[in-house]
Amino acid sequence: MDLLLKDKIAVITGASRGIGAAMADKFQAEGARVYRLSRTPARAEAGGASPNWIACDVADEASAEAGINAVLAAEGRVDILVNNAGITRDGLIMRMKTEDWDIVQDTNLRSAFFLSRAVARHMLKRREGCILNISSVVGIIGNGGQTNYSASKAGLIGFTKSLARELAPRGVRVNALAPGFIRTSMTDTIPEEFKQKLLDSIPLGRVGEAEDAANTALFLCSPLAAYLTGVVLQVDGGMGM
Ligand code: NDP
Repeated sequence: MDLLLKDKIAVITGASRGIGAAMADKFQAEGARVYRLSRTPARAEAGGASPNWIACDVADEASAEAGINAVLAAEGRVDILVNNAGITRDGLIMRMKTEDWDIVQDTNLRSAFFLSRAVARHMLKRREGCILNISSVVGIIGNGGQTNYSASKAGLIGFTKSLARELAPRGVRVNALAPGFIRTSMTDTIPEEFKQKLLDSIPLGRVGEAEDAANTALFLCSPLAAYLTGVVLQVDGGMGM
């Protein structure tokens, strides 16, 4: 099926590995011109072609804006922005350091504000565009030990809905994806017994793969989802229903 993404200019943050890399590969396979923003270089694709990687710390205002400006300078437009970069700094609240709270908000939530603001003006002018924010099922149902992370992910949901309302009159769509337990370097460090507990809570009975999230992102960013905005789509095997 043609997802109508050929020659679309897509910016994907946190595309050096995990879900972001899977999304970037899939968007590219559909013919989109993908720019990958992360602090460390994006891994080379299986095919060997070197991806468009832009060094960027999304938590830093100047760096985030420079990342978008670099794409605008090269292409003149951004059709799709995926705010995917994210980190965890888990801990029980009594032991959580203020810097662990702050860095998670800055990386996961403040970054989406910087990057969305930088593309919104251009998208509004062109009366088209799409922003996808990668939230999390824990932004909906919560998770002990992740107050900082789940607050940032719940914040992204409020941000998504407000921005969707703000930009909809000019045809710009804003949606969120809420993955459940996806196998990436972020979840690799979870202790085995806790992984089993998580697995037991997934009705579909398996851990998600980065491709599961990437496939849904492809749909949400394609014209096939032209009538969807302000949506939070859970890709979690039923974990958060
Ligand atoms: P990974 O840890 O595998 O990848 C995280 C990506 O974010 C990397 O590419 C990293 O690149 C980038 N990143 C982190 N900090 C910054 C920064 N300051 N500036 C730019 N890029 C940054 O995580 P996942 O692929 O698992 O997660 C991707 C998104 O999906 C995150 O937002 C995460 O919260 C969310 N998610 C993941 C779930 C899971 O189970 N895996 C579940 C629900 C949501 P680099 O280090 O090179 O900068």
